[in-house]
Amino acid sequence: MKKDTSIDWANLTFGYQQTGLNVRCKYANGKWGDLMFSDSDTISLNIAATCLHYGQEAFEGLKAFRGKDGRVRIFRMKDNAERMLASCKGIKMAELPVELFCEAVCKVVEANKEFVPPYGYGASLYIRPVIFGTTPRVGVRPADEFEFIVFAMPVGLYFKGDKETTPFMLTRKYDRAAPLGTGTYKVGGNYAAGMVAGEEAHSKGYSAVFYLDAREKKYIDECGAANFFGIKNNTYITPESTSILPSITNKSLQAIAERILGMKVEKRKVPVEELATLEEAGACGTAAVISPIERIDDIDTGESYIFSKNGEAGPVCKKLLKHLKAIQNGDEEDIFGWITYVD
Ligand SMILES: *Cc1c(COP(=O)(O)O)cnc(C)c1O
Repeated sequence: MKKDTSIDWANLTFGYQQTGLNVRCKYANGKWGDLMFSDSDTISLNIAATCLHYGQEAFEGLKAFRGKDGRVRIFRMKDNAERMLASCKGIKMAELPVELFCEAVCKVVEANKEFVPPYGYGASLYIRPVIFGTTPRVGVRPADEFEFIVFAMPVGLYFKGDKETTPFMLTRKYDRAAPLGTGTYKVGGNYAAGMVAGEEAHSKGYSAVFYLDAREKKYIDECGAANFFGIKNNTYITPESTSILPSITNKSLQAIAERILGMKVEKRKVPVEELATLEEAGACGTAAVISPIERIDDIDTGESYIFSKNGEAGPVCKKLLKHLKAIQNGDEEDIFGWITYVD
């Protein structure tokens, strides 16, 4: 357990560091046990645990922010709880009750309050719940025992560069998730499936791979491990597909676009050619919030779709980001009921 909290808040990266206590809970004999605090950041696991061999593992990512008033706010915790429950069902793990998830998250934040960055640094406390099968098996069958752990650490911005926008690499060479596979669940297996593509993109100077739908290679799917949105004619457009992870950041941006900015919202299949007609484009997720897209290079055809020439985010991306951050930090009224206070 880390006791020294002398952290350089202004220079945090998006990286792991040990903090105070984490919270753990075990499932056995058909029920969840008590939540327990641990001061260790390691686990003890059977060498044949199903999470190691057959990928029975799911995780979540959410953030807590400190406002100008000093109070700590957790953003959309219940939505993450519901999504983790869906992931549990999706890969045959014990169902984690929404209330248990929320209780564990609140306990971790409370126990690590001194690690919640002060207001004004653009930093936050990143909360990482994880659940995995622990039953030893060599035959392929779901585990009967599971462990749920929640830990947290302070993080800074995900992409730190001299410009606000980042480039993406479009290719038809890889799929992240199958149309009727596990793309809608937040499971580690989907990330393993995207590592080769992701590293190819990084080695060529791109932030991530821009995936098309696996069946027809005609429609926009996800950008790396983030959802895509485009802006045109005062409309927020985001793809609908059976292989996209339902991003809570994306849902928040849709709500802000509709109810605060008075925009139209369209959730539908987005043909790749439509990229040429968009005024702005972005990738979104909890870690990076919004990554405004500079350009998307189709490395299969040589075509480039350019959204920003000066490294700056477009006006709608800026407005969306401003409102989302203001609600998270408590600078703007939370008209949606997204915030949980821990004190
Ligand atoms: C977590 C994740 C996202 C972003 O979801 P948020 O709820 O906004 O953090 C998008 N795509 C994938 C594949 C993810 O795993």
